[in-house]
Amino acid sequence: MRASVVVTIVAMGVLSFVMAAVSGRIYRDHAVDNERAALSERARVGVEAMRQRLSTEAEGIARVLQSQLTGRSAAGGRDYALRTLDKELGHYTASEHDFSPIEIALYDRELRTLGRRQRFSTELPAGDLQAGCAYLRTPSDAARVSPSSTSGYCFVGSRVYYGVFLGLTSSFASYVQVTFDAASNARVLEALVGLPVRLVSDDLVIYQSANWPSSESVGHTLAASLTVDTTGSKALLFQVAKDESAFYARLEQTRYAVFFAATAVTLLFILVALAFLERMAVGPVRALLDQLRGVRGDESQLGNRVRVGGNAESVQIAESFNAVTDKLERLYEQLDRMTYTDLLTQLPNRSFFQSRLEQAIVQAQHDNRTFALFIMDLDRFKEINDTLGHHIGDVLLQQVAIRLRDKLRESDTIARMGGDEFAVLLPTVTAKQADMAARMLVQSLRSPFVVQSHQLDVGVSIGIALYPDHGVDAHTLIQRAEVAMYSAKQGGCGQVFYDPQMDRHHPAQLTLMGELRQAVEQEQFVLYYQPKIGLRTNRVVGVEALVRWCHPSGSLVMPDTFISLLEQTGLIRGLTSWVTHEALRMASELRSQGFELPIAVNISARDLQNNGLAEELAEQLAAHQAAAEWLELEITESAVMSDIAGAHDLLTELADMGFKVVIDDFGTGYSSLAYLKRLPVHAVKIDKSFVMGMARDENDAAIVYTSIDLSHNLGLQVVAEGVDDEGVLMRLRSRGCDAVQGMYLSRPLSSEELTSWLAKSIWGFPTRVAC
Ligand code: C2E
Ligand code: MG
Ligand code: MG
Repeated sequence: MRASVVVTIVAMGVLSFVMAAVSGRIYRDHAVDNERAALSERARVGVEAMRQRLSTEAEGIARVLQSQLTGRSAAGGRDYALRTLDKELGHYTASEHDFSPIEIALYDRELRTLGRRQRFSTELPAGDLQAGCAYLRTPSDAARVSPSSTSGYCFVGSRVYYGVFLGLTSSFASYVQVTFDAASNARVLEALVGLPVRLVSDDLVIYQSANWPSSESVGHTLAASLTVDTTGSKALLFQVAKDESAFYARLEQTRYAVFFAATAVTLLFILVALAFLERMAVGPVRALLDQLRGVRGDESQLGNRVRVGGNAESVQIAESFNAVTDKLERLYEQLDRMTYTDLLTQLPNRSFFQSRLEQAIVQAQHDNRTFALFIMDLDRFKEINDTLGHHIGDVLLQQVAIRLRDKLRESDTIARMGGDEFAVLLPTVTAKQADMAARMLVQSLRSPFVVQSHQLDVGVSIGIALYPDHGVDAHTLIQRAEVAMYSAKQGGCGQVFYDPQMDRHHPAQLTLMGELRQAVEQEQFVLYYQPKIGLRTNRVVGVEALVRWCHPSGSLVMPDTFISLLEQTGLIRGLTSWVTHEALRMASELRSQGFELPIAVNISARDLQNNGLAEELAEQLAAHQAAAEWLELEITESAVMSDIAGAHDLLTELADMGFKVVIDDFGTGYSSLAYLKRLPVHAVKIDKSFVMGMARDENDAAIVYTSIDLSHNLGLQVVAEGVDDEGVLMRLRSRGCDAVQGMYLSRPLSSEELTSWLAKSIWGFPTRVAC
């Protein structure tokens, strides 16, 4: 910008300089023209004065003749007149008068020549002169002695004369013509104008002053021409010349002065314009550009404000620029906050915590001191969230965050790592202090939270890792605190310090945990179905839905690997919800194909703690327009036994809704039959370990037989799982077992395999045509 502005200004300056030079030239020409006009005027005045003088001279002669000839008769008068003429001419010759006529001639009324006299020096034939000036002689009453006269220049060959024709009142002479030699009179003109003169006719120089400028000095000379009246046949020029060296020198001086002034003014203009532009436009724009470049390279400069002077527009641009950068700065700050803040709780987020932890490690290394890291996971949060809705869950998390923050010191860092997981960094603490702090946090969450009139109890499990005892880098410390946290959760014991013993299942388990969270969120599961065969009809009486995890690596992971982990973390709720939903969808599909089979789903011990389970199942039934008998609920014996009272209420509610409840893995939970009797249970499923052991171990067989009998006595149906050979099947049949499930009858099948199995197997409905 600056370069273009400079070029423009310089171009404008040069242009104005050229214009000044041109106008100087015009001024010079004008001055020369004026000078020439003045010269011309001077010539005209001179010529006019000369003619006046000649006319006056001629009138004087005429008056003398008039007085001399008055009263004379024509007879003697003519001679007398000629003598008088001689006498007159004689005067001139004697006195070498400036205006000496060269001829005086008298004429009668009819313009006949009465007589003429020429000066002796004239070699001109008289007739020629008469002829040349004939145009002056017009008879007229008016042509009398002065002022009535006619005068003009007459050409005779290459010579020029000036004739004055005047009237007389003598009895015989009526007119007199006085003729002068123009060339000799030019000298008079020279004296009159004070300049060299020249008389030119038809390019012929008739007279030229001795000091007429030579061709070399023409450069310093100015000449003016005056054309005087003639008969019209030829032009007669009176030229005057003037040595104008001084005038031209003055002009040249003026030209240099103008040139100098123009240069100075141009330079001044350029400098002033540059300074003005620098201050008004270039400076502000450069300041803005510098600021822009700075901001582009380093956004921390966004807060810097540009201050520019200059004109109103520049100031306005700078103000707008500052407003925009202010806004951008605020946006950056907001972005920063969003990047490092958990928007729900307004606590720092995982990224922030990670970097703070790394800083703490560097600081602790430097200061040679210890610090503690807590990873905390809320207990029962998932249930609250699932039961009461995410909004309540969100408010609860906010309240938990406030309570935790209030309990910590300013120097401590607390962050929400995601979900219901929080992390705390306690700088400069010993193991004992860390333990006390963790207890205090556990204690702080003991009193219930109130969210929208709900009284909510949440606990917290805290895993503690110490720097440098349990790890010297951020990743290891977080991982070990998590291991300790899972251990605390499993043990239900509030806070636990990391112990290398805990690593037996880790870190593979931890990786699995991360993957499982994602698996539940993304529903990376599939259901397989294992048929149950009724031994009275030898037909399939239902199927059990068994979940498999479609691991992102492509493998199908069996439930034993992940169910207990999901139970530990509470993620099982999400899985159960998905399984019941998927089972209802499958049941509906089977029904549409003519297979009215109940599908058994496994309900885990953690599901039993979910007060909203019944409600959720009811919603799912409604969503699928399904009846409760489409599903059977398999609950492991140990799950029921761990909280008989709670299980009783829930199972009663579920049974009332029409669900059949089956006690799974019967025989492993040491159930009290007295309690079992009081539960609304439809059937028991004898654990596969006893059924599979029947062939080899009579104790197992005895347990199975007793279980069948006792269950029948209690009015419960009996299902045996793990039937993997015909012999076991035969023995179960012989002991009155109601239904069997196992590899001998069918392995768990995918949904497609199941429909084809139902149509083809001898245990299925081979005669029924599937839609
Ligand atoms: P379960 O409910 O007792 O399921 C029966 C298990 O025994 C299944 O193993 C089945 O494949 C296996 N089984 C059946 N017949 C035989 C046999 O003749 N021989 C042998 N060796 N095994 C047989 P799976 O599918 O690996 O399931 C294991 C356990 O995982 C289940 O035991 C159940 O407790 C749990 N589980 C499976 N699916 C779910 C689910 O959707 N939710 C919950 N909470 N737990 C599930
Ligand atoms: Mg089962
Ligand atoms: Mg079982």
